[in-house]
Amino acid sequence: MDITATLNHLGVTLQEYTGPDLIVRSPIDGAPMAALRCHTRAEVEASIAHAVEAFLVWRDVPAPQRGTLVRLFGEALRAGKEPLARLVTLENGKILEEARGEVQEMIDMCDFAVGLSRQLYGLTIASERPDHRLQETWLPLGPIGVITAFNFPVAVWSWNAALALVCGDPVVWKPSEKTPLTALACQAIFARTCAHYTQSTGQALPAGLLYVLVGDATLGDWLVTDPRLPLISATGSCRMGRIVAPKVAARLGRSLLELGGNNGVIVSDQADLGVALPAILFGAVGTCGQRCTTIRRVIAHRRIYDALLERLRTAYHHIAAQSIGNPLEAGTLVGPLIDRAAFAAMQHALDAARHQGGTVFFGARVLDATYPHAYYVTPALVQVPTQVDIARAETFAPILYVIPYTTLDEAISIHNAVPQGLSSAIFTTDLREAEYFQRRSDCGIVNVNIGTSGAEIGGAFGGEKDTGGGREAGADAWKAYMRRQTSTTYYGTAPPALAQGIRFEVR
Ligand code: NAD
Repeated sequence: MDITATLNHLGVTLQEYTGPDLIVRSPIDGAPMAALRCHTRAEVEASIAHAVEAFLVWRDVPAPQRGTLVRLFGEALRAGKEPLARLVTLENGKILEEARGEVQEMIDMCDFAVGLSRQLYGLTIASERPDHRLQETWLPLGPIGVITAFNFPVAVWSWNAALALVCGDPVVWKPSEKTPLTALACQAIFARTCAHYTQSTGQALPAGLLYVLVGDATLGDWLVTDPRLPLISATGSCRMGRIVAPKVAARLGRSLLELGGNNGVIVSDQADLGVALPAILFGAVGTCGQRCTTIRRVIAHRRIYDALLERLRTAYHHIAAQSIGNPLEAGTLVGPLIDRAAFAAMQHALDAARHQGGTVFFGARVLDATYPHAYYVTPALVQVPTQVDIARAETFAPILYVIPYTTLDEAISIHNAVPQGLSSAIFTTDLREAEYFQRRSDCGIVNVNIGTSGAEIGGAFGGEKDTGGGREAGADAWKAYMRRQTSTTYYGTAPPALAQGIRFEVR
């Protein structure tokens, strides 16, 4: 495994971070990639203090200049796309093609944020009083705490960081303890970008615009409970969100939560199965089922249920036979699960599905002779007579429940009867069905004739219900990283009038 060469290429010298606290393993073969030291409480305290100092300088740099830094960062990512994608694959296990897509998303996000740096628009409002100017302005908020999940180890951070930086906010980032190396690589690229910025503009930058802090949930909790971080943007499981949200609320901070999904697609008897099938396959087995937007439930019309299930079984058979393997190798479509716990959770869910009346196809561990310390599986299909309990939970592995329906209202009620509300889709050629579902789906994302995953950054991303309600990317996501201020100026000469016509005359 070429981990040292890849890290060196990205400018990360591991000696700086070496320690006994955290063994980072590659899911490809389970072998250790690095032994890291976790940041101490004192270091976390100091990092946040420095981020606060950086904020006092950065907030006064004009937003388009802040955009220049993000533009240069995007250019550095373009130059480093291949090694960073490789590191994502080594550390996270997603196939190289998807890892490249993840880095491309970071680049796109930088481009998007650069444009926004000239469009952080406020409002001018018609005042009810003469000679008054009424306006709303958006101001930098403060250092932002960002906590990220293992499955999009760099893209999700960039959704936050690119916007936060143009909005005038430094970023304190706690990556997943399963994927700290990609975060350290981003930090190294960002540090080089800062040097480049100073060199090319002649402007000094405050130190402390980005801190990467290595640690587990305990370190995350130090960020969550720190009142110097006015916004905590946390991505991960619903379980994590349930702990984080009340803690941030208790200090009256803001949280932006991007939590688990349990995404369903309805396949109507009016669907074009030639369109539906490839979309379902990418959504269900891509990234080895480890996307928040993975398709986990297919709700299929009884008239096409058997035909669709048969086609899915044939496709899953082909995938099992030829597409599972080392994610660095061309031709692999499905890499490993992240770790043994993910495999155990998958088997537990499949046992529960059998117990609850489901028929399970595939889903076993494979390649264990070649990779005894890694967890490769054949994606599982589960035929169920109704939406069984286990299908209502998000199991972060490739399990697809196939559920029959008769009427569209029934399908929608099955679809919405889960706690999560991230992404949804319908496959149909009937415009009326499509429009009806778009209005009735209770998710943050609703698609027609495409799958639930692979969102573009131009649209707001996030979900309702247990998914947490947060939105990242999209046209106005930047507002989460700023504070809104209303200001009224009086420029007349007579004593100023009061709003609502109130008279208050002191004789
Ligand atoms: P996780 O909840 O185990 O961990 C996510 C992050 O939260 C990690 O950095 C972890 O250290 C931290 N954390 C955990 N408990 C914490 C606590 N009490 N206080 C502070 N920090 C804490 O999730 P995971 O296994 O890394 O990722 C998979 C989950 O993330 C899935 O549920 C997936 O759907 C979700 N996810 C959601 C989105 C989205 O945009 N909605 C995107 C990616 C992943």
